[in-house]
Amino acid sequence: MPYYCVNKNVQSNGDHEVHDLTPGACGRLPLASNQLSLGYHQNCASAVQQAKATYWQSNGCAYCCPTCHKS
Ligand SMILES: [Zn+2]
Repeated sequence: MPYYCVNKNVQSNGDHEVHDLTPGACGRLPLASNQLSLGYHQNCASAVQQAKATYWQSNGCAYCCPTCHKS
C-alpha cells in the first residue's frame, strides 16, 4: 500500500498536491521539509480525502497520482 504526503506549499492555482512516496513513483516530490505525511492509503482518492482535512483544496499530483489529478 503506498505511503502518501501532501505538499505544505500551495501551487499557483491554489492546490496542495498529494504525492505517492513510493521510491521512484514521482519525480516531482516536494522537499522533505514541505511534505505533510498522510500515512498509508489504498489509493490516491483516499489520500486526497485525508489531505482535504488539512487543505480543502487538495489535488492529486499529475505525475504520480494521475487518476486523482483534476485540472
Ligand atoms: Zn507526485
